[in-house]
Amino acid sequence: MSKDPTEFVSMKMKRLVEEASQVRYIPGGALKIYFRSANTLLRQSRLYMKENDLMNAYKFYMRYATLAIEKLPSHPDYKKPEHKAGRNELLKNTKEVLNEIAALKPILEDRFRQIAEKEIAEDEARYRSMQKPESSPRPLLPLEKTYVPYENWNLAEQLKDLPSNKFTYNNNSIHEEQSYRSVEYPGISMRNQSDGYTYPSVEMPTIGISTSTQITYSPELPPKVKYEPPQLPPKPNEYMSTTYNSTIPYNIPNVESIHKSEPEFAAFTEGGEGLRKVRLSIDIYENFTKIAAKNTLKNLETCGVLFGSLARNVFSISTLIIPKQTATSDTCTMTNEEELIDYAEERGLIMLGWIHTHPSQTCFMSSMDLHTHSSYQVISPEAIAIVCAPRHDPNFGIFRLTNPPGLQIVLGCTERGFHPHKSDLPIDKNIVDQGHVILEKNMELNVIDLR
Ligand SMILES: [Zn+2]
Ligand SMILES: [Zn+2]
Repeated sequence: MSKDPTEFVSMKMKRLVEEASQVRYIPGGALKIYFRSANTLLRQSRLYMKENDLMNAYKFYMRYATLAIEKLPSHPDYKKPEHKAGRNELLKNTKEVLNEIAALKPILEDRFRQIAEKEIAEDEARYRSMQKPESSPRPLLPLEKTYVPYENWNLAEQLKDLPSNKFTYNNNSIHEEQSYRSVEYPGISMRNQSDGYTYPSVEMPTIGISTSTQITYSPELPPKVKYEPPQLPPKPNEYMSTTYNSTIPYNIPNVESIHKSEPEFAAFTEGGEGLRKVRLSIDIYENFTKIAAKNTLKNLETCGVLFGSLARNVFSISTLIIPKQTATSDTCTMTNEEELIDYAEERGLIMLGWIHTHPSQTCFMSSMDLHTHSSYQVISPEAIAIVCAPRHDPNFGIFRLTNPPGLQIVLGCTERGFHPHKSDLPIDKNIVDQGHVILEKNMELNVIDLR
């Protein structure tokens, strides 16, 4: 076990980068779904920033950067003209993300260092007190036994409440209030090309794992269009007031209280990816089947989309939106998807899945349902598909695609209409009894009918 703070900081940063780089990019989906996935990552990063959960903020910003810079440019449709607006938005947001990564890295390193130094000081104090003969008449225990191994500590929990030096954001730089520290932001310059076009050139900061290992991102040049001189995106207002207060000495929670704190994930996918808890009203079945009753009588499906919020690493489904739709006895298609997404984004809601009825069929995921759900699960790994089958028992199921192999098989499938998916392992899973969704009483559910 290393007791060198520098080594500890480098180990922790390396682990963070490794976790963040496990980007769930599974090819095969439509490009606009991945753009939405990127937006969802960005919104979650901002929420974590607001909560001062800097470790998760860093992790999600890193995921965004990896998706935007490494993964999406290889999508077969990436360079198509119809995706120009999406690409431009991605590039603009990537600049913000890289600024935040560059600003967060030294803050996190400072905090990891504070934890390591605090532990070393405690160990030394304990060692000194054991050496006093009057207070320690017994033979000395081996020093190693008094160490608290770093692995037993939940660092995410510790970092949440650890104060740091005061920082305030402004448009282009961060100033430390007590002692000025300059933060290197990605430089933006214009490059004139021989063909007469002017391209913006973004110098990406180095995202270092350690001094010996460095990842440098070099994004592709944007399409040949005349640009106004680009500017750094303005920081959202919430960042302007982000302040990290400093109060020394630091009060690190004891090991027992850390062990009692809530786990970061409520469940794991088949591939080991952590899924955060999703809270859902236990009345969802009753509420939705009432809304769908007229259609159900006519043997027509009804669908709705589930939205919610993220707070302290837990999602809460707060809103059910019923979009404009067309239906048959075994299909349901939204007709105003864009309107729905605009509506939700304006209200800061996160898409967490969808719900639909099977007016005459049993409670299961049809092959078309699996295809619909694959997009939701690309956008958010926690996204769920709820099926209500009022004429059968069971009448209620909460599903997700297995990952792997379900999500990969469905995203890679080019068949349309109802068709079988060949797999020895299950493609989807009913998680109503065990999984990351917790059904809760007395939870408010806001229903918005856009039909
Ligand atoms: Zn269905
Ligand atoms: Zn298929």
